[in-house]
Amino acid sequence: MMENLLIEQVRVVDPANGRDEICDFVVRDGRMQDPGCDVSGLRRIDGRGKLLAPGFWDVHVHFRDPGNPAAETMQTGVAAAAAGGFTHVVTMPNTVPAGDSVEWLRNQIDADLPVRIHPSCCATRGRLGKELADLDTLALAGAAAFTDDGAMVADDGLMRGAMVIAKAHRLPVMDHAVVPSIAGPGVVRDCPAARKYGWPVFPAEAELAAVRRDIRLCEETGCATHIQHLSCAGSVAMIREARSRGLPVTAEATPHHMALAAEDIPDDDGNYRMNPPLGIRDDVRAIREGVMDGTLSVFATDHAPHAPETKSHGFMKAPFGIIGLETAIGVTWKIMVETCGMRVMDWVCGWTVAPAKLLGLDAPSLSSGRLADMVLIDLGHPWVVRPDEFKSKSRNTPFAGRQLPVKPINTWLAGKSNGCL
Ligand SMILES: [Zn+2]
Repeated sequence: MMENLLIEQVRVVDPANGRDEICDFVVRDGRMQDPGCDVSGLRRIDGRGKLLAPGFWDVHVHFRDPGNPAAETMQTGVAAAAAGGFTHVVTMPNTVPAGDSVEWLRNQIDADLPVRIHPSCCATRGRLGKELADLDTLALAGAAAFTDDGAMVADDGLMRGAMVIAKAHRLPVMDHAVVPSIAGPGVVRDCPAARKYGWPVFPAEAELAAVRRDIRLCEETGCATHIQHLSCAGSVAMIREARSRGLPVTAEATPHHMALAAEDIPDDDGNYRMNPPLGIRDDVRAIREGVMDGTLSVFATDHAPHAPETKSHGFMKAPFGIIGLETAIGVTWKIMVETCGMRVMDWVCGWTVAPAKLLGLDAPSLSSGRLADMVLIDLGHPWVVRPDEFKSKSRNTPFAGRQLPVKPINTWLAGKSNGCL
């Protein structure tokens, strides 16, 4: 049902229109309205202490669909995204089977969901890194981006080829920038827990070499090149330098890489295992600085569900990855806005305008006349993360038990409410 709604005295933050003001906000027949329009007969919501922004975008999610319904499905992933304040997500193709076919791509898209799915497709066939997938066909069928996420496209020639084709279609290539031959068995940065338990150490050079390579290929091809889940201070410096030269390189900062350091790993806990691993404190500081100065322009969660039993046998037996959709708004607000003093407008931009721009899509906005695509966030109700309450099918988060300062309470997409409110 199309929404008819008056949100009274809400803080409207709309980066595309340069708006940050407290006002009444009206949606009629699903469309956002000009200020001062007729408000009779509308459902009313008290907007005081709340923030209204364009619906958030997450360019990096794993919904494990098809292939691993014990961890997540399209339905539960979408429910987690909507509960987390997102109306657009880019699904990763490391499913079973891998996302390298038009059939896979079409199965990802379902127009009736409260979240719009923008599927990324494999850069190489089967994500095996041996030959390119049929990128032209996938681009024409609606792929949002190309990536072998979960693995780097390690072969320079293949990556160059993927970038040339992606550029011709004005699509980005996203890379999981970890050189496998340098990473070796490494799973964690050097830290007290690694020394205590004897976990193999992940050398920062595994990421640095990949970022260096990707920047070089970006320069050669001119393709929009996006570095996923960046974790090292040296990578931030390289991205900053490349962007200062005008190269079309972007990089994403995840909530966990900006909030947690390897030194914070408390125990033999599988919920701290992800790839790339948590940086050390200097890396965390550099990532926050990179977000603040616009080097890392895009936030993304790398929401990576795993069925509970797989994460419960200690760090070394756990698969890589943590979920993030339902804690992302709270964690990034706490770290970037509260701790680092990021402007709220810039914070909203990193979750909306910047990710849409990366995909070559129109800037999300609250412009009048458009169908409502927005999120309402409660700024005044701190809450404690209880994974049992998640919509996600998985529980693997290192933020369990932590208090977060703000919480999304509803989203609207294409003029319709997700039904939370
Ligand atoms: Zn990845």
